Amino acid sequence: MRVLSIASEVYPLIKTGGLADVAGALPLSLEPLGVESRTLLPGYPAVMASLQAAETVLDLPDLFGAEARLISARAAGLDLLVLDSPALYDRDGGPYIGRDGRDYADNFERFAALSLAGARVAQGALPGWQPDLVHVHDWQAALSPVFMRYSDQPEIPSLLTIHNIAFQGQFASNRFEGLGLPDHAWWEALEYYGTLSMLKGAIVTAHAINTVSPSYAEEILTPEFGMGMEGLIASRADALSGIVNGIDEKTWNPATDTEIAARYTLARLATRKKNRAAIATHFGIDDDEGPVFAVISRLTLQKGMDVLADMADELVTMGGKLVILGSGDLVLERALTAAAERHPRRIGIELVYNEPLSHLMQAGADAILIPSRFEPCGLTQLYGLRYGCVPVVARTGGLNDTVIDANAAALAAGAATGLQFSPVTPDGLRQALRRAFRLYNDTKTWHQIQKQGMKTDVSWAKSAELYVALYQRLLGKG
Ligand code: ADP
Repeated sequence: MRVLSIASEVYPLIKTGGLADVAGALPLSLEPLGVESRTLLPGYPAVMASLQAAETVLDLPDLFGAEARLISARAAGLDLLVLDSPALYDRDGGPYIGRDGRDYADNFERFAALSLAGARVAQGALPGWQPDLVHVHDWQAALSPVFMRYSDQPEIPSLLTIHNIAFQGQFASNRFEGLGLPDHAWWEALEYYGTLSMLKGAIVTAHAINTVSPSYAEEILTPEFGMGMEGLIASRADALSGIVNGIDEKTWNPATDTEIAARYTLARLATRKKNRAAIATHFGIDDDEGPVFAVISRLTLQKGMDVLADMADELVTMGGKLVILGSGDLVLERALTAAAERHPRRIGIELVYNEPLSHLMQAGADAILIPSRFEPCGLTQLYGLRYGCVPVVARTGGLNDTVIDANAAALAAGAATGLQFSPVTPDGLRQALRRAFRLYNDTKTWHQIQKQGMKTDVSWAKSAELYVALYQRLLGKG
């Protein structure tokens, strides 16, 4: 089976969040199951710099007014199709946002171009390689099935994976004219409360839709989580499913991780103390007995960082320490920085993106705190499980599906892997922290939770099989 995967970020080439982890890891897990994937992504400078065996396979001389070509290449073990267009992608900021912190003014063209190139490949433009199926990720790739639907070439089956329905690719309605689609495509597929939504395009036209956890698939059918798209999603409910993400177990393995101070296995949990000491040194906090809570996250309301800021003083009063790695909303960055300034030996914060430090934090902190208001899947709790860093999570979406709460029954059965709480309010978090302290002080139970987490299968193996089954259904073979 040949699959064209289209994503705007792919780990380790370019990453801003969980989407990259998935787009980078899933093709590798599908390979042993007989799926030959090629991944189409934009030729950002970091991507262009890492290509091996690069060869131009298709010229696209006028892609939304830009000169472009498709390069076939390998990098990071992946077969890539890179959309090289300096006018669209050769920027010194991030993949979506410039150095000034604003969205690029031409994001519409940048990702419509990615989608159109994908549709062309899907419909046979590439000499010698024709996919059976297109797998598009999020709004940045979501116009591919739309372009296929309204072209005069036959379309091939498509799957849309929604990593976060809060990001809908909304643009002014007048951009529609530039797409070269027939007028009826506007009402049928793209119009969204008077604007153009790229994500809607794929929700309407993709043959199947999945989210990155079963709970989130159900949640987005409701007004609370559907972000205005719940009605639209409901109209495709028969095409909707949820498959939880796995993690790349080579990159995230405490026994072999070269980014951490001391490597360890389940049998040598005491070694984690060395990593905890390294965290304390790094963040300038005390290395004493109280538990260290880690936060590795975008600092946004989605992630409940306002609630964390409200509870930071109490967490310290309870005897805990907090280390925060992340960046995001200015107001939240300031609130959390102020908390760290109030408690310099108890709270540390770094407002940067630092992949190696994120490994050390998982390897040394006692718990990873994830108070998200909604969480399509979440990866940091999966890394936490693998590293014996106990997840303390909001009961929502993928967090609900991947962490087994340490309630009395789960503890008695030896099944608990973390703590869940709800609602995401200061009081909800307060109760969760109190429970976490109680369990942490019961060393034997805490170790049992850590170990049960480390034994949990968080690999891609099971989920890759579910994706293959979904692909097969789409191809009429399931
Ligand atoms: P989302 O995709 O919504 O941001 P996920 O939990 O699915 O959330 O994925 C976030 C990914 O980004 C994880 O791999 C996490 O470790 C990583 N991450 C987030 N912030 C940082 C940071 N400041 N430094 C390093 N890694 C980070």
